[in-house]
Amino acid sequence: MSLPSATAYDLVVVGSGPTGSAYVREVYEQHPTATILLLDAGPRLTDPPGTHVKNIPDPDDRSRAQRDSEGPGPAGRPGTRLLGSPQLPAAALSTNVGGMGAHWTGACPRPGDGERIGFIPDAEMDVHLTRAEELLHVTAHAFDRAPFADEVRRRLSALLDPGRPAHRRVAPMPLAVTTRSDGAHTWSGTDVVLGGSAADERVEITDRCLGLRVVLDGETTTGVVVRDLVTGEERSIAARAVVVAADALRTPQLLHASGIRPPALGRYLNDQPQIVYAVRLPDDVVAAHRAVTGRTRDEDGAIIPQSGVSWVPYSDAHPFHGQVMQLDASPVPLADDTDVEPGTVVGLGWFCAKDISSDDRVEFTDSESDAYGLPAPRIHYRYSDRDLDTIEQAKKAVTAAGATIGIPLDDSPVLLPAGSSLHYQGTTRMGPVDDGTSVCDSHSRVWSTRGLWVAGNNVIPTATACNPTLTSVALAVRGARALLDHLNTTAERSTPTAQAGVAVV
Ligand SMILES: Cc1cc2nc3c(=O)[nH]c(=O)nc-3n(C[C@H](O)[C@H](O)[C@H](O)COP(=O)(O)OP(=O)(O)OC[C@H]3O[C@@H](n4cnc5c(N)ncnc54)[C@H](O)[C@@H]3O)c2cc1C
Repeated sequence: MSLPSATAYDLVVVGSGPTGSAYVREVYEQHPTATILLLDAGPRLTDPPGTHVKNIPDPDDRSRAQRDSEGPGPAGRPGTRLLGSPQLPAAALSTNVGGMGAHWTGACPRPGDGERIGFIPDAEMDVHLTRAEELLHVTAHAFDRAPFADEVRRRLSALLDPGRPAHRRVAPMPLAVTTRSDGAHTWSGTDVVLGGSAADERVEITDRCLGLRVVLDGETTTGVVVRDLVTGEERSIAARAVVVAADALRTPQLLHASGIRPPALGRYLNDQPQIVYAVRLPDDVVAAHRAVTGRTRDEDGAIIPQSGVSWVPYSDAHPFHGQVMQLDASPVPLADDTDVEPGTVVGLGWFCAKDISSDDRVEFTDSESDAYGLPAPRIHYRYSDRDLDTIEQAKKAVTAAGATIGIPLDDSPVLLPAGSSLHYQGTTRMGPVDDGTSVCDSHSRVWSTRGLWVAGNNVIPTATACNPTLTSVALAVRGARALLDHLNTTAERSTPTAQAGVAVV
């Protein structure tokens, strides 16, 4: 039985990834009595719910959890299924409690320059970003002891730092991870975001429960209709507020299925073209490093699982986000790869900001259904001439960065298939005014509705190149402030009861 235990809540959140969970946590902590339902179409993998699968110690259990997250259809990267879109071939989704947040790498850079949202003051956004970093347990020090990381950054800095302000220079990548006292790492899933709320009786988390549609009475949100994916039973749930946080492809799907179809719905879809390249640190650098530090590995002699992640921040002058990962082994066969020193092979990923166009979109048809019976998505997506130019510039930039670090392992950088970054954005984007080019306001409230919020990378209106989850969690923190105001101001007028607007359908 995957139906909620009650028929009315103050808040229903559809989708249990990092952004939906952030709404739950913020409302739970700041409203003393609010009852909250968090529902997800996918299965609950762990106890507590939403734990990152990398923290599951047994490899078989971990693989099973990844497979269980894929849902129906062809598998993508572990924990995801491919959407099957010819124009966005690598587009993938996770369907499980925790969403992609149970599978992610956890890179949490702050956006900068043109990635910032012009109509939200920087100082205010920084406060929300700080709160998002707390919610996700972000630190830049998880791999301070990684061998060669300082050398990699020293080389990148010499090339890329001149002219940059101090906070946008080459740095360790902020990561959503906690270093335990034994030195091992615990990766942040949504268990971390939910914190104590998940164990409180005011919060209910229901898995295998599909949000079928949001229900409105005129412009006022009154609840959701859900389906138990185990029994097929459907039920109406009353709510004073609803947050749809069902990822960038399925949040617009649920709005479409609910008859909420503003002109910008599904449009401005953008993903970050991703270019990869690999180099190897020169032998003399490795030898010199060994001579100075007396070590090439972790101080305890252990081979650490990931030998360091560095960050080249996006800037208007260098409009790419660089994620530089030192690897434990070579990603391509080497003649002498029997003893590759961990950390000496360096993978560079350069992410580009896509040219935003309303023509790039996910649209839905009422005549065809997806595997869950919701309107089937169809993606329209292309690279503009400017995108193709950006991609060429990024290839040059990553080649130069690779050359400053070491010896190339590839002939040239490779552009991954569109959708590979898994950072789909813009499909319910926010705007300063309701002029037809946005779906929600800057507090993530859907235009022309009352009590309805959207969350996820889909609300980001700018062309970002950096990993977007920190930004979308920060925007959820901002949206939660408005949602709390809504709950406080509507409390007297419409306290939910088991009778209010509820019917078994
Ligand atoms: C391998 C991998 C690595 C990544 N690395 C990074 C990284 O380093 N940094 C970064 O910023 N991002 C990264 N990402 C992306 C990141 O995980 C996402 O940006 C983030 O999880 C989005 O959060 P979300 O809450 O918007 O949605 P999601 O985490 O996608 O969760 C959405 C949830 O909604 C549920 N849902 C959908 N439709 C319905 C419905 N109708 N009813 C009920 N439930 C529904 C889904 O089951 C899903 O659980 C990575 C992703 C993957 C898979």
